[in-house]
Amino acid sequence: MGIHMQVIIALLLGIKRNWHIFIGLILGVLVGVFFPQELYPKAYSVLNFVAGAFINLIQMVVIPLVISAIIIGISNIGDSKQLTKFGTKMILYYGIITVIAVTLATVIAIIIKPGVNAESLIRPDISESIKEYVAGAIQYQQDNLSEIFLGLIPKNPFEVLSKGDMVPLILFVSIFAVALARCGEISRSVVAFFESIFAATMKVIDWIMYFASVGVFALTAVSVGTFGVEVFNDISKYLAAILIALGIQFFIVYPSMLKIFSKVPPTKLFAAISEAIMVAFGTASSSATLPLTITCCEKRGISNRICSFVLPLGATLNMDGTAIVQTIAVIFIAQMYGIDLTPLLLFEISLLAMIASSTCAGIPGTGLITITLIFNGIGLSAQQLVVGFTLLFTVERFVDMFRTVCNVTSDAVVAAIIADNENELDYELLSSKESADKIEKA
Ligand code: ASP
Repeated sequence: MGIHMQVIIALLLGIKRNWHIFIGLILGVLVGVFFPQELYPKAYSVLNFVAGAFINLIQMVVIPLVISAIIIGISNIGDSKQLTKFGTKMILYYGIITVIAVTLATVIAIIIKPGVNAESLIRPDISESIKEYVAGAIQYQQDNLSEIFLGLIPKNPFEVLSKGDMVPLILFVSIFAVALARCGEISRSVVAFFESIFAATMKVIDWIMYFASVGVFALTAVSVGTFGVEVFNDISKYLAAILIALGIQFFIVYPSMLKIFSKVPPTKLFAAISEAIMVAFGTASSSATLPLTITCCEKRGISNRICSFVLPLGATLNMDGTAIVQTIAVIFIAQMYGIDLTPLLLFEISLLAMIASSTCAGIPGTGLITITLIFNGIGLSAQQLVVGFTLLFTVERFVDMFRTVCNVTSDAVVAAIIADNENELDYELLSSKESADKIEKA
């Protein structure tokens, strides 16, 4: 049996355990398709309220969770040699996954040519002026990139905390956690304080999850019911390219990475994280799913040391699904406007997609905001590409749901690989459904 079939079966087995969330998801799709928002606006205001309440509830725990997990994760690793080793491995595996993602996306976009049929949607005189802009843009790109990187260093940690600005916040917390680890015994009480916060946050997450099936139902219904079906015709090749690339990443690249770099059976890991995958699909948010990702991975044997270090950082920095979508979207628009896609330009787009995706917060829709960084990088602005952008936005939520599934899954894949490499994975727990269930009931 092919690995992708095994992965599908594993997911279905995992879903069996979490059937209530899965039923919520399916019902949400059905309601969205058969009872669209235009016909039932009142019902949708209720659904919007429920969906918003669920998202708010899970986002409520994200900041305490991220801060406490990173502080525990980094200070538990303790000695600086091990920290460097774990950190290097994390960057290496996240890097490999993202490089594969953008390469795959570029190849698929070149083969499928999603923008070629969409040319008719824009005026030829506009595309002429755009081609000129692309030529003289290198200087512009450099200026912008340095500004973006400067913005990642927080001047005031409390300001980024209150704004929920995840990348600068994580940078500050990570530096602070390394300092705590270096301070030794004297920092013990501070770390113990964050351990209590982590434990209490996990309790709150357990309570919130009682509401998950209803929340996922409302979120899916709202997403499907609002975008309407006609839009898919105009943009069908773009969607096909994205779904194929994300599908290959999910069903082929992740299992292959697990097989090449670890002994972790892909099917076991996919079954273990199926609950997180469904919530990622419903919420379109890696950060909101993070509590679930951590719970699923820890319950199935990945040590707390690895989970609390690798997963929070991954939920903000590792966005390979987003990188795939951004690469295909930029190539789609470039093809639409008739821009000559030279190998150098393609390389530049892929590289910028790696940067743009990792500056993305793990919340819905940010992938389409940071995509402007790639356009700026190649000398274009969103205003110039307004038709292309509008098309991207029409299917944004739908695409976001799928790319977030990849973003979340790849975090768990990298956590599992590192846990295996470092002997931090309890294989008995990973394989035995009973022991996991026992823990669930405890
Ligand atoms: N929604 C994505 C995530 O949370 C980010 C994005 O691509 O917009 O992972």
